[in-house]
Amino acid sequence: MAERNQSFDALLLHLRDGLSGYRILNVLTAEQGLLDVFVFGGAKSSLRSLATPFIFGKIFIYSDNVKNYKKLNDISILESFPGLRESYARLWSAEVIAEFIMRTSACGGEYPRVLSSSVEALRFLENADDKAAGLILSCFLWKMLSVMGLEPDFSGCSLCGQKFHTASSNQVWKADAALTPQARLVSQAAFAGQTPQARQSSPRLWYSDYEAAFVCPDCAVGHGESRHLIPVEDDLLTIFSIFSYNGFAGLPELAASLPAELLARVRHIVFGLAQNAAEGTLLTLKG
Ligand SMILES: [Zn+2]
Repeated sequence: MAERNQSFDALLLHLRDGLSGYRILNVLTAEQGLLDVFVFGGAKSSLRSLATPFIFGKIFIYSDNVKNYKKLNDISILESFPGLRESYARLWSAEVIAEFIMRTSACGGEYPRVLSSSVEALRFLENADDKAAGLILSCFLWKMLSVMGLEPDFSGCSLCGQKFHTASSNQVWKADAALTPQARLVSQAAFAGQTPQARQSSPRLWYSDYEAAFVCPDCAVGHGESRHLIPVEDDLLTIFSIFSYNGFAGLPELAASLPAELLARVRHIVFGLAQNAAEGTLLTLKG
């Protein structure tokens, strides 16, 4: 059938003006991934005023498959996340999420997982303070790396292949998904038998901006400046493990308990990996 009406649960990601008064809406659906949908109507049109980014709802569209064209007929809003617009950090984080999804063609597949993770991230972002917003955004991007099959490999150095000896490679610790994020950090410290100060001072591996990958201390020697290396201690690895195993729950409380410097390194590394996955700089992350 060349023409038909369809409906999808969709997250509205981005709206841009077309040439002659219409607008083009980019939406994420579980069934078809990203869709570009035309929105008609003047500035006073109620549909046009509803069709704004970060609405999650059921969209009703008319498709003309011969002319390869989709038009928005109606939206039934399920969630509108008004809190996102109350802080720059929240709204900016949501914009990074939208750009990442669009740049990666919704992570190349597994659309239901991408949609549910992005909606869940917006729910957490909606009430987040600035520290928490950065951690929630980092967690979302980390989860999407996993969807794309690009979650970093911590088993060994990306340059020489030497095995990393990290506490987080211990399977017993990894398997204990019932731990809260804070309990994980405490048990991790106990497992490693080190004080926080000792752990801070002895990175077991480094993140290399140049490779967008993790390298061993041997390979890090002498390359500090040319490769722009970021030290990665067990605390940082634990946060990545929390992203993988616990997800968003508990991140606001965790962010409040962590030093700003550690959170900045988490963002730096995850943003680097995410841009590597997106094969280029994300405009929202520029500058
Ligand atoms: Zn190495």
